[in-house]
Amino acid sequence: MELIAQRPNGTKDVAPTEVYKWHTIERIAAETAECCGFKEIRFPTFENTALFKRSVGDTTDVVQKEMYTVTAKSRDNGKDSGEFTLRPEGTAGAARAVVENGLLNSALPLKVFYIISCFRHEKVQKGRLREFHQFGAEMYGSADAGADAEVIAMVAKILDRLGIDNVELMINSIGCPKCRAEYHKALKEYFSARKDELCPTCLDRLERNPMRILDCKSPICQDIAKDAPLILDFLCEDCSAHFEKLKRLLGEMGIGYTVDPHIVRGLDYYTKTVFEFVTKDIGAQGTVCGGGRYDGLIEQIGGNPTPALGFAMGIERLILTMDSKGAQYIPDKKCDLYIASMDEDAQTKAAVLVDKLRSEGFYVEFDTVGRGLKAQMKYADKIGAAFAIVLGSNEIESGKAMLKNMATGEQTEISLGDKFVDDFSNVAVANMFSGTLDDFSMGNGI
Ligand code: ATP
Ligand code: MG
Repeated sequence: MELIAQRPNGTKDVAPTEVYKWHTIERIAAETAECCGFKEIRFPTFENTALFKRSVGDTTDVVQKEMYTVTAKSRDNGKDSGEFTLRPEGTAGAARAVVENGLLNSALPLKVFYIISCFRHEKVQKGRLREFHQFGAEMYGSADAGADAEVIAMVAKILDRLGIDNVELMINSIGCPKCRAEYHKALKEYFSARKDELCPTCLDRLERNPMRILDCKSPICQDIAKDAPLILDFLCEDCSAHFEKLKRLLGEMGIGYTVDPHIVRGLDYYTKTVFEFVTKDIGAQGTVCGGGRYDGLIEQIGGNPTPALGFAMGIERLILTMDSKGAQYIPDKKCDLYIASMDEDAQTKAAVLVDKLRSEGFYVEFDTVGRGLKAQMKYADKIGAAFAIVLGSNEIESGKAMLKNMATGEQTEISLGDKFVDDFSNVAVANMFSGTLDDFSMGNGI
């Protein structure tokens, strides 16, 4: 057999046996965000291309090289044709959604989070995919550095609850348009002197947005950028005070950080604070979270001026990081009971009993593939069933069966009549509490 097509390069399937890792991250991140006052927002997978060009910035790698864009033909006399792009990130779509739905007209700050897939036509490497997933959060309406500290602390808490302690927080300030004007002049001067060595993309950036050169992935540009003037030396009074307050707050909260004056982030909308959480344990793509402030973004996309900030963490990179240090995940639900059947009447009875227990929230299985008894019991073992019952004509006739504890081999008689659900619940609950407290804890603070 040959598949007619394989999955596109840079995409991944998640097998049902691996999905507990995703659930752990999604659940812990969402629960932590909810404790911090964030609520989930959902928005489309694709947007009008103009949204990304204007917000992410048309001199960024993302817009210049990595967008998946389609030109849709009109189905309505030319009125609905246009260019659409699969979202390369979440901030622009979330910002568009909160403005379009008037969510910034109510009490601020507004705090939202999302779990989304993103699409970038990048060079595929470990930790760098073409479809990847982000847990992201955005906070609108707070200009104070207290909000920056709150958002950074939330990321730290998520990482901590996931058992990720092999990351470092790097922070920087990239100022506001006011201080950046002077900085751009200095950068232009610096890079113009080595103009001939820059890559063609950066040559264009030199005129339009010299700060982008600092984020170029080409080794030659990176090497030149190493000695470029630093934005921290150009901060205006306001930006400087904001950065000092953030550092003081992080210190008070006991959140360790390093100031890295070279971080500029890959997207144009950032102002003032930028930050990254980086690990050395998963290879070259070690940034598990990137974020910062974007005070100009809402106005830039057509809303009323509203300060904003946020972050996104790459879920695939979080999994790589957790796996690199053997961090614990929340385990999948284990099968509570397998009801084996020896003939068709018994199978019918099994189907009815299974259905009753499932209504009570138990995870129960029975045979639907016609296995013999021995193979059914082997299967029960394989799926880790805590208990098993074997139904044959004797059991059906007497209305009673033996409930076998698969771990201890212990057997208890159980009624198959009206008391079945109650009897099973009692035994199952007693069994859950018979383990040590350690067996029962799920780790990760949950
Ligand atoms: P990088 O410098 O690693 O390319 P970025 O600056 O492009 O990252 P952001 O746009 O800030 O990344 O995205 C936030 C997070 O999403 C990153 O920190 C990373 O964890 C994840 N991420 C970004 N691009 C990819 C990708 N192509 N594959 C997997 N994860 C990604
Ligand atoms: Mg990138």
